[in-house]
Amino acid sequence: MEREGTYQKLFGFLGNAIAAFPDLRQGKNRHYSMADIARGAFGVFFCQSPSFLAHQQLIEQAQGRNNGRTLFGVERLPSDNHIRAHLDGVDPRLLRSVFQLTSEHLIKEKVLERFRSVGNTLLVALDGTGYFSSESIHCQQCSVAHHKDGRTVYTHSVVLAAVVAPKIAHVIALQPEFIRPQDGTDKQDCEQRAARRWLEEAAPLYSDLDITLLGDALYATQPLIQKVLDAEMGYLFTAKEDSHKYLYEEITSLEKLGEIHFLERKHWTGRKHQIWRYRWVNGVRLRNSDDSLNVNWAELTISGEEGKKTFHTACIGSHLVSEENVEEVVQASRTRWKIENENINTLKTKGYHFEHNFGHGKEFLAQTLLSLNLIAFLFHTALELLDHRCALIRATLPRRDTFFQHVGVLTQYMCFQGWQQLMLLMLEGLRLSDPDG
Ligand SMILES: [Zn+2]
Repeated sequence: MEREGTYQKLFGFLGNAIAAFPDLRQGKNRHYSMADIARGAFGVFFCQSPSFLAHQQLIEQAQGRNNGRTLFGVERLPSDNHIRAHLDGVDPRLLRSVFQLTSEHLIKEKVLERFRSVGNTLLVALDGTGYFSSESIHCQQCSVAHHKDGRTVYTHSVVLAAVVAPKIAHVIALQPEFIRPQDGTDKQDCEQRAARRWLEEAAPLYSDLDITLLGDALYATQPLIQKVLDAEMGYLFTAKEDSHKYLYEEITSLEKLGEIHFLERKHWTGRKHQIWRYRWVNGVRLRNSDDSLNVNWAELTISGEEGKKTFHTACIGSHLVSEENVEEVVQASRTRWKIENENINTLKTKGYHFEHNFGHGKEFLAQTLLSLNLIAFLFHTALELLDHRCALIRATLPRRDTFFQHVGVLTQYMCFQGWQQLMLLMLEGLRLSDPDG
């Protein structure tokens, strides 16, 4: 069973968090423990199979055992209705420790060291995304918009956080911060306020990691940057001429004085030559006020040989920019796209049914199910990074969702004693030699 180590370790983090779930049920209907209900829901997400529990009922009837028990520790298989009814009262914040403990485990196993980038820091991208919208279904945690045409629209959004690295395809999910009505204020919550809460709550947990935060132009404001600096983190946020008018006036003035540095590099794409032109300057005032912060600015413009511009990006940040590191700084800032592409897009399109409505609930259900889904995504990544067998199978199959679709199908027909038995069967089927054999 020693080989089950990684899987058991990760699952233990989840099991401990689930053990602290409150049991708000009253009277009858306590046939299923809260642990069974939460573990059963997780099984659905981990196997990316909405019918996972129904299939395990069938296997139980046929074989007297099922994967819910052997892989996920579910004693009695709950139904989807039990999950909807009983997870609704569970605050998703109770799952935050799973993200923290998993990232600590990845640090201990020296996996996160490979992700280090500019200034030897870890890049953590923050980005807000919507995951629910309806004109009828709603709960206490919905954001509400009353439109001029009389429609009322209920939505859920979340600020996702993930460790990203320029040359690594994997992203490692950190705890999310939900955009939701806050006690003590009538103001609608928004991405910036949620990002500030993320900094207040997550920063102390990750303060030893030496983090550079990445975010779009929405994050590049003085109050948010001040919060980042207070949290002793670095940052690289997108800067835009239309959203940072004063900053760009300063840059134009500095340019007239010959203070803007530049560097040109020729790149061969395999088909054509490109000119990559970097410009940068340190210590520019962010806004027109006495207490303005000074920021370091860097820009990249890519042009074809004929001079036509094909790409432009600019960022402001805490890292001092020089000829030696300007390419690395801009590359780190551009890595922000991975939270949209590798993280949000994967969750929405690669089998995670991120926007699929498993059930909304009246209180927390939509958020708690989303958190369990994110944890499934995190565990899949961690297993790929830590389990050699999983990594080899995953690399052999064309896509990430193919791998988990296969896991989903196999667990519909066979009962596995543990994760490694499942991995060995897949290795054998693909005629791959066991990397741990
Ligand atoms: Zn809602």
